[in-house]
Amino acid sequence: MAEESNVRASTPEEAVARIAYLSSDVVVSVQPSLASESEFSKHLKSYAARKDASLVAKSADTVPEIVSIRHNNDPLLSVFAPIRSGRLVSVTASSSILLPSIAHLYKLANLPVVLHVSLSPRSSPDYSAITSIRNSGWTFLQSQSLQEAQDMALTAHALAIRSGKGVIHFFDASSSGTGSVVAGDASVVRELLNLDSVRRFQAAPLSGSTVYADDGHVAVVADQPERLTNGAVRAVGSPANEIDSASLAGASHVSSKSSQLSGTSSPSSVSAATTIEPAAPLVSSEDIYKYVTSIWARLSELVGRQYSPFEWTGSAKAESALFVFGADAALLSGLIKNAQSGDKFANAGVITARLYRPWLGAKLLAAIPRSVKKVAVLEQVLRKTTKWGPLLIDVLTSIKSSAGGVETIVGYQLGYISRENARQALEEVFENLNAEKPVQNLEIGRREQPQPTSEFALEKPKLETAYTKILDQLFGSRVYIANSLDKENAGVSETISATPEYGFGALLARKERKQRFVGEVKEAASNGRFLTDAPKRALASWVSGAGDAKKADEAAEKVISTLGIDNSRLSRSLLENKSFFRKESLWLVGSDAWAYDLGNSGVHHVLASGENVNMLIIDSTPYSERAAADANRRKKDIGLYAMNFGNAYVASTAVYSSYTQVLQALDEADKFNGPSIVLAYLPYFGEHESPLTVLRETKQAVDIGYWPLYRWNPDNEKKGLPSFSLDSEHIKKELKAFLDRDNQLTQMMRKEPQFGAVLSEDFGTEIRAQQKRKAKDAYNQLLEGLFGAPLTILFASDNGNAQSVAKRLGTRGRARGLKTTVMAMEDYPVEDLPNEENIVFITSTAGQGEFPQNGKPFWDAIKDNTELDLASVRFSVMALGDSHYWPRKEDRIYYNKPGKDLDRVLSNYGAKRLADIGLGDDQDPDGFQTGYQEWEPKLWEALGVANVEGLPEEPPPITNEDIKLASNYLRGTIVEGLQDKSTGAISAADSQLTKFHGTYMQDDRDIRDERKAQGLEPAYSFMIRCRLPGGVATPKQWIQMDDIATQLGNETMKLTTRQTFQFHGVVKGKLKPAMQAINRALMTTIAACGDVNRNVMCSPLPAQSKYHREVYACSQKISDHLLPSTTAYHEIWLTDDNDKKTQVAGDAVQDFEPLYGPTYLPRKFKISIAIPPHNDVDVYAHDIGLIAVKGKDGHLAGFNLLAGGGMGATHNNKKTYPQIGRMLGYVEASEVHIACEKVMLVQRDHGDRKNRKHARLKYTIDDMGLDVFRGKVEELWGKKFQEQKPFHFDSNVDTFGWTKDETGLNHFTFFIENGRIEDTADFQMKTGLREIAKVHKGEFRLSPNQHLLLSNVADEDVPALKALMAKYKLDNIQFSGLRLSSSACVAFPTCGLAMAESERYLPVLITKLEGCLEENGLRQDSIVMRMTGCPNGCARPWLAEVAFVGKAFGAYNMYLGGGYHGQRLNKLYRASIMEEEILAIMKPMLKRYALEREEGERFGDWTIRAGIIKATTEGRDFHEGVAEEESDEE
Ligand code: SF4
Repeated sequence: MAEESNVRASTPEEAVARIAYLSSDVVVSVQPSLASESEFSKHLKSYAARKDASLVAKSADTVPEIVSIRHNNDPLLSVFAPIRSGRLVSVTASSSILLPSIAHLYKLANLPVVLHVSLSPRSSPDYSAITSIRNSGWTFLQSQSLQEAQDMALTAHALAIRSGKGVIHFFDASSSGTGSVVAGDASVVRELLNLDSVRRFQAAPLSGSTVYADDGHVAVVADQPERLTNGAVRAVGSPANEIDSASLAGASHVSSKSSQLSGTSSPSSVSAATTIEPAAPLVSSEDIYKYVTSIWARLSELVGRQYSPFEWTGSAKAESALFVFGADAALLSGLIKNAQSGDKFANAGVITARLYRPWLGAKLLAAIPRSVKKVAVLEQVLRKTTKWGPLLIDVLTSIKSSAGGVETIVGYQLGYISRENARQALEEVFENLNAEKPVQNLEIGRREQPQPTSEFALEKPKLETAYTKILDQLFGSRVYIANSLDKENAGVSETISATPEYGFGALLARKERKQRFVGEVKEAASNGRFLTDAPKRALASWVSGAGDAKKADEAAEKVISTLGIDNSRLSRSLLENKSFFRKESLWLVGSDAWAYDLGNSGVHHVLASGENVNMLIIDSTPYSERAAADANRRKKDIGLYAMNFGNAYVASTAVYSSYTQVLQALDEADKFNGPSIVLAYLPYFGEHESPLTVLRETKQAVDIGYWPLYRWNPDNEKKGLPSFSLDSEHIKKELKAFLDRDNQLTQMMRKEPQFGAVLSEDFGTEIRAQQKRKAKDAYNQLLEGLFGAPLTILFASDNGNAQSVAKRLGTRGRARGLKTTVMAMEDYPVEDLPNEENIVFITSTAGQGEFPQNGKPFWDAIKDNTELDLASVRFSVMALGDSHYWPRKEDRIYYNKPGKDLDRVLSNYGAKRLADIGLGDDQDPDGFQTGYQEWEPKLWEALGVANVEGLPEEPPPITNEDIKLASNYLRGTIVEGLQDKSTGAISAADSQLTKFHGTYMQDDRDIRDERKAQGLEPAYSFMIRCRLPGGVATPKQWIQMDDIATQLGNETMKLTTRQTFQFHGVVKGKLKPAMQAINRALMTTIAACGDVNRNVMCSPLPAQSKYHREVYACSQKISDHLLPSTTAYHEIWLTDDNDKKTQVAGDAVQDFEPLYGPTYLPRKFKISIAIPPHNDVDVYAHDIGLIAVKGKDGHLAGFNLLAGGGMGATHNNKKTYPQIGRMLGYVEASEVHIACEKVMLVQRDHGDRKNRKHARLKYTIDDMGLDVFRGKVEELWGKKFQEQKPFHFDSNVDTFGWTKDETGLNHFTFFIENGRIEDTADFQMKTGLREIAKVHKGEFRLSPNQHLLLSNVADEDVPALKALMAKYKLDNIQFSGLRLSSSACVAFPTCGLAMAESERYLPVLITKLEGCLEENGLRQDSIVMRMTGCPNGCARPWLAEVAFVGKAFGAYNMYLGGGYHGQRLNKLYRASIMEEEILAIMKPMLKRYALEREEGERFGDWTIRAGIIKATTEGRDFHEGVAEEESDEE
């Protein structure tokens, strides 16, 4: 902090924040939420960001710690730990936290904490927050202007240090005036704080006490000699009269235990010069007075401003006085000062309390002129709890008990006063005061307040409504939430009505009311006067079933309608409470703040009551925040607490993890007859958190077991079912202990032994160190027998690459006669490093240029280790990384950073380089091998083993081709892998093979890092893709698919760009059941992925059903014809585990692949069929594209056949490119499957099997030339392609809404954003489609753009379906043209290749563009925009008019100029741009397009005409003339 302070503070909070910052080691900043700043916190944080030092810090440059706590998160709990460890703590907060913190206030009163409180609500503060806690033992100081706020803040800190007691400094920020003051001058602050006392406090932490046990600590008068203000030295801590005599002296603080007060030992640092007393006296109000006056005296000397405990404004001869305890003292005294002689309030004065507690009655008397006869006491206490105002009682006791001149004291309740009504208010006060019999408790000012703008307004996070929406959906009008924030509760403030106690009371009242209602109904049923007979019967039947929810609900409808018809007075009166006829589902909704104090929060009361009441408790602490939380803040596990109670239903849920489980839990809670507690996880940092963050946080928390998903139903025991069901994989230790005790776990462990394993591994670090030592010694012994120089190879590896390079290097070293050791860096004992002769490091690069997990401990141990002397060590480093991983220039330093750091540090410690660092770059033509192959020979050279004779031949690396060949027609060791329960994974070779069976292994990338940090393997699961030619499914199949997703997958399914169903999140144990379920649905997954012909696509064509049927039949024919013949699929997936019986027919005696042979195709192979004028299948993007040609008779005649389209490419690798299919010619429909087969066979035999990046058909054709290729196909086929037939395409997007086909059947195209079928609290899409499938008689067609068609609906069925669609909001197609024409691939979290978000991000990006579309009149215009997470191109981005392809997390390459109907590839426009740049480019570009486009001109065409991008004529010029080069040197 600069000594000279010319900085100005313009609000009281700013002035206070500055003083608090300078005078504290820790500032607890209480905020509305962690994402929204308070008026204090924004200043505190800016000082901390500037690294301003605190004046009380032990070292000159220490920055105070700013601890941000949410206002409803028990903020004062965070004070205990630091203050007890000898750190000075202050708190900045609004007064709304005071009452809920009352228990802490009592405990903190005897510690030198300073609490700066801004009164709330801001525009009309309620001083009852202060008066209610006036007897908590704290000292209270009040300030009333900006300058005073600063001075009292300083006084508060100085006083806390001197007295050892807590000080609350409160002020009303809105009436503190405007302007600015010179912000706290450091020299003044330092002078007043008394640093000697500060040091003594900091040097004597309180030990051995806990937050929850009162250790009896009290503040005592200090006993150290302290400098007097005039420089003399006196002994403080002497008897009180001595303190009196030295009234200007400050006193230092020493903490003491109460036991010491009566014990024989005196406080430890007693000065030899003082008289030793048996105990230091407790700090009295007199002491406080002395301290504060001495502080003010010094302040006056330094700055010239004077203060006293009570302050009088007005004439010394005044006859009456106003004692104002409220926001408007300055306003009122201004009016009095300027009063005219005729005014009722002329000749009055105003008194205010500066030191409110301790209350010094004698000083008050002294402050009031003796001429004053009448005193009006004005208190701004809005929430009155006593008949007489607290201040009135203070004043009465002080004045009446003394012999002053005051005769009358009248109390008033001060309401809201503005400039306009202040004068009138004053007149009222004085009229009453001067009356013969003044009225007590008169209300002055307006009762109704202006809209409060409290900085701590209760704000519900937007996302929190997810759970309440589910309550609504489940229980509809039956749900009754007793304490919702938005409920009108007459006369009860929002803060109170939202509390659980209030809600619980309200629920009980509601239940009583219902009981009374039942009584009323009974009475009405027997004796009521109705106009008709029906009501009595209906009511009697309702009463008999009133206790049973189901019966009551059934009877309710009848009763309500009968009463409605009757319409008598009695009927009408009963109907006023008609909601009571249904069984209500009673809910209390609360937050995790309740978890800090279960006793007081109401949780305990609900449980203890045994009442049938449901609580929904939303916990919003993000998983990643909990790690940083104060260890002393002990949030209790409400679930555990409730389960221990034994009588409650308990569930722990997370809507962003399992929607179905939430539904189940809420439903069970509702049915449970007793208290139910449903804990709901919804982590967020700020009120407007993005769902993506909430999703990621939830997944981490659930996966790691921080937030387990479970349900505990005590009723189940009676039914012989287990009470506990664990719905997630992991569980907390505490919960496990509980279950152990409850004997439930024993049963469960028996059932699922893997359950406990994850909990038990906990090695001490010492044991681990010993293990390292032992392992290395044993290995060294082994090596003893070998000759040659030693070589230690250490690796740090995340994905196994560096590890296998290290192992191979080790093998080669051994072959060269070196004594070679290979181990992970984390297993290496660092103390051995100086003794190494030759050591080599191979490290890959993780995260933001960090060491991989298993290299971190080693790096941490050496990086700042100044003791390491490596003079005799020779070393070399090989670093592996990706120079394009970081999109921004300034982040390029992260490229191979761990390796470079290691190289530098080792050299600094004196080690000599064997060879210069090698840099392996994934972007090089041969990936990291390019750099590695240069480096390794240099190493052998330096070790003198470069030219060793007779080295054994190394086996070549295993390729995909080898795997296929060795797999015995795709069997590999898949069966064995599935049986291995020790891991969720299968072997690398098997994961290549399972692709041929339609399933990939993936892992959840949202939680990958967290699991690694926990030492767990990645969260492996499988993606399963069905084979569904043409994307046509029956309604029954739809339901079956829905079941599979819910029961065996992650509760969602994806409709893919290849018109099929895809499931994600299927864990290994459920893989086989899922495959069998698919098979039972008469579908298969065989050859849905892998190096074979995949699902054959076909335009869904709703408008021409007959024609569609003919073309669709061709797609089935081609699909069947090209299916692999291996029986491995049946053998692995469809046999039953015990007797190996296959469940479907199809066993062949011997495997033989007539089309594919043992090595199948070099790469994947895709076929699609377009029906002009729709190119919705993107016919140019596939290995074979078939364009249907209609004959003159209106039937299918044949196809134009395109070959060699393909999307996959690699960033920065110009040898790879997307390509469009080229025309081979026309074939008859009857022969199309044969023509396709021949094209595939030529590819089988001529495709590149060495380089998978060059293996697709497009490269084969480009290398061979189109004519040569065509010739080879024709030769094999023995026929020639005919001349192509004319065709025409209009677009490649879907047409949404209803269509009628030529047969009169109806079709509806739903908009399914990015093909994801799921339920959310807002949109029950999955449930809705299931309900539709239950009644639909036609078929479903999946569109190639990931949408869905409800096909073949007869006219008479339309209304019912329309009603269902409306009910589930599935009929909504009112989206922007851009959104309707967009599509994205899956990418994060499941796709292993994803570099950036896609499916989860594209909708967000479009939303951000829609405003601009609207402004430019483009809302209805179709612009094809696509996004993928990597250049593999699953959503066919290269054919879009505008595309974004993931480059790194948050960064995309942008492409422009694709053809609207998929006929032209686009071209790179900008590389590695992030959202801000995307928007900055797109918005003006869209505007320009709107202005410049010609009639009917498409966006892609316009970008070319406008010269923004060059046209790409075919794949080979994709990299030519790009608008921005992707330079390595960016
Ligand atoms: S395009 Fe890339 S990121 Fe997207 S799903 Fe395909 S492979 Fe994954």
